[in-house]
Amino acid sequence: MPGGRLLCLSPLVLEGDAIDNHSSATDNAIMKSWRANRLDELPPYLFVEIDRRKREAIAAGRDVIDFGVGDPDQPTHEFIIEAAAKALRTPANHRYPLGIGTAEFRQTVASFFAQRFGVTLDPQTEVIALIGSKEGLGHLPTAVVNPGEFALIPDPGYPVYTSGTIFAGGKCHYMPLFEETGWLPALEEIPSSVARDAKLMFLNYPNNPTAACAPLEFLERAVEFASEHRILIASDAAYSEVFFDADQPPPSILQVPGAKDVAIEFHSLSKTFNMTGWRVGFAVGNAEALAALAKVKNNVDSGVFGVVQEAAVAGLRRITSAEVQGHIGPGGLYCRRRDVLVDGLRSAGWSVAKPQATFYVWARCPRGFDSMAVANRLLAEADVVTIPGVGFGRSGEGYVRFALTVGESRTAQAVERIARLKG
Ligand SMILES: *Cc1c(COP(=O)(O)O)cnc(C)c1O
Repeated sequence: MPGGRLLCLSPLVLEGDAIDNHSSATDNAIMKSWRANRLDELPPYLFVEIDRRKREAIAAGRDVIDFGVGDPDQPTHEFIIEAAAKALRTPANHRYPLGIGTAEFRQTVASFFAQRFGVTLDPQTEVIALIGSKEGLGHLPTAVVNPGEFALIPDPGYPVYTSGTIFAGGKCHYMPLFEETGWLPALEEIPSSVARDAKLMFLNYPNNPTAACAPLEFLERAVEFASEHRILIASDAAYSEVFFDADQPPPSILQVPGAKDVAIEFHSLSKTFNMTGWRVGFAVGNAEALAALAKVKNNVDSGVFGVVQEAAVAGLRRITSAEVQGHIGPGGLYCRRRDVLVDGLRSAGWSVAKPQATFYVWARCPRGFDSMAVANRLLAEADVVTIPGVGFGRSGEGYVRFALTVGESRTAQAVERIARLKG
């Protein structure tokens, strides 16, 4: 779709016409476009160029290896599809699902949380179903941020934190993340005037795009900061189950004592179970904030398809199975791809940390190149698609992101091509 406004007409004033109140209704009508001004406040979409070049390369018949999109390449597990197929035959599932999720869905989430994190949740008030966690994250500012109040947003970060805040009329204050400080925001550097007027803080660990994990001590400091300034923490834990060190499972912020007073956490079935297309996730934690989010949702959507909720239940109940862990767990599919990519890039002279979680590799750009230049060159000269870090925010400059959504042998092939690049 071409960008820009549909109508860019100036009011037509013919010579001799008097500009008076009678003509202004017509003039205003001509000035109206089918595009609200708030859309102009959204940051530019920086992947357009790389997207265009990728499509050109594919159309030209080049053998493109795509590490761009953060979308699992494997199909949803068979046992989940079976559960959904069965649920399709239940007529109750053909009706509006409505509300915060079925009792069974919420109870299953609570059981998962107790087992995985040792956190007790009241399934009546502390769990709500979402049409994917992005949906919940996007609606949250509308539920809790008043116009003019700040949301604190990590930079680099997942774009919906910004767009949801803008749609709610809130202001964005970016918290820069740096490698030297483990990609954790420096809370003490948030100006006190901003902290005073802030209502919400987004955190995302394990992190997209940097693949960093937050130790529990950081989450404790964040809860302390949020309590002091009366800020709601929205912890985006979409990758909490994709981790490679069995001894260090990423924590939930709700493990911090007192966190339920100031935090909610977003979880997603998408990456855990190869279910991005199904659209299902959940939010847990502070009951008042969840009720506010549910109120927004009740006014714009009618719940998660019952079949999808049953599929999610089936997945969560077998999250520790070999079938699921063989993809997301220690030694699993993503872990093996990670080793091929990171070891390969390192022997090619790149400086890359080995991620302990997520299915991303966040690689520092070779000296002298910015992220757009590196992504463009990898595509032009190696037919390899990556995402330039600057696309995730200013502080993402200097890095490119590889998604581990390419098989091992193709990944090895990509690494060979990258190693052959000169200079
Ligand atoms: C993929 C992703 C999500 C959203 O996943 P859903 O499919 O909407 O559940 C949320 N946050 C981050 C950081 C992600 O990468």
